[in-house]
Amino acid sequence: MTIYLDNAGTKKPDEKIAGDYLNLIKKSYGNSSSLHSHGREMSKILENCREKIACLFSVEPDIVYFNSGASEGNNTILKGMVDYALFYKTIGKKLPHLIISSIEHPSIIESAKILHNHKRAEVTFIHPEKDGLFKPEKIIDSIKAETILISVGFVNNETGVVQDVKKIGRELKKYKSSIGAKYPYLHTDITQAIEYNTINLERDLIDIVTFSGHKFGSLPGTGVLISKTDKFFPLISGGGQEMDKRSGTVDVYGIYYLVKVLENIAQKRIKNTKILQHKKGKLEQGIEKIEGAKILFKNSPRSPHISLIALKNIEHQNLFVILDKQKISVSIGSACASKSQKISYVLKNMQVDAKTIRETLRISIALATSNNEIEAFLKILAKIYADYQGR
Ligand code: PMP
Repeated sequence: MTIYLDNAGTKKPDEKIAGDYLNLIKKSYGNSSSLHSHGREMSKILENCREKIACLFSVEPDIVYFNSGASEGNNTILKGMVDYALFYKTIGKKLPHLIISSIEHPSIIESAKILHNHKRAEVTFIHPEKDGLFKPEKIIDSIKAETILISVGFVNNETGVVQDVKKIGRELKKYKSSIGAKYPYLHTDITQAIEYNTINLERDLIDIVTFSGHKFGSLPGTGVLISKTDKFFPLISGGGQEMDKRSGTVDVYGIYYLVKVLENIAQKRIKNTKILQHKKGKLEQGIEKIEGAKILFKNSPRSPHISLIALKNIEHQNLFVILDKQKISVSIGSACASKSQKISYVLKNMQVDAKTIRETLRISIALATSNNEIEAFLKILAKIYADYQGR
């Protein structure tokens, strides 16, 4: 038996879409930028996908850009907006200023650091409170005349803590209307949020979102950037695809897959969220029965798919290896951080002490995770832990 509990790392592709996907590959081909009938057919499929995404997020299709995933989207927005502001001097002669949550995915943190180190921007990293949540007032207080962007992720990928991005949006709107400013824009990485939250850019006062397809059951290498502002330069230039904001031939098949999965998710979101909450409840009840085990950020709003646990006095690297030998896949922090030996900056910035950080494991479930798998995992974990302590 194998047990997959790393659904926040990536989720098994939704097989129900595979038939439609294969049919599309068999039936339609051609470069979506070509003017011939084959190209036009692909372009029609792509534009149809764009309209569907626009509809799901309550925006116009011409602000929906397809790309390779959230890393690309995040890089594009941070670097592209800064370079645009520098080139057009939209905020005068000073360096553009960014307010970045310190618990973001490395694609945001590293991009911000590069901009800062290369003296292309000034960056303020803001930290959450002890409960993992940001205080919107603190974010607004950090705004300067040169601030062009605020970036706070919707759901944190290591802890599952859900930020009140809508409240940040409301506070920002108040602030901007009080001084009649266009900047700063509000960006939120919704990669871990999209499956269990309805996000409406108009209602929620969010300007820019980025996400990857493979986190909710479509294919790796596909993603979406939606931006109400076009004041950013493309990260990849070339043939001018995606309204000049992202060159390169679009993976129409992959985008088709992504849109189909997302439409299914949107239809069943409320029901599926409840089912998953119930599953996570069972998992966490079981964890809490193990003496020495605890759930982090238990009293903060959290996504139903992520549970960060810590087992006292067993280093996560050791536990990870033992579980892996039994074909149980979990994660130490985020998938990208797992290969490095460094302790998680995310947890550090969320005020988790260093010892506990080294004892954390991220368990992330999906609808496909069965109750039997959860029970088996709990039993195995309890046994491993007892054996380890009795050594
Ligand atoms: N943002 C978040 C919140 C993520 O969880 C991830 C994936 N771990 C990414 C961005 C990057 O996604 P990708 O690797 O698909 O570019």
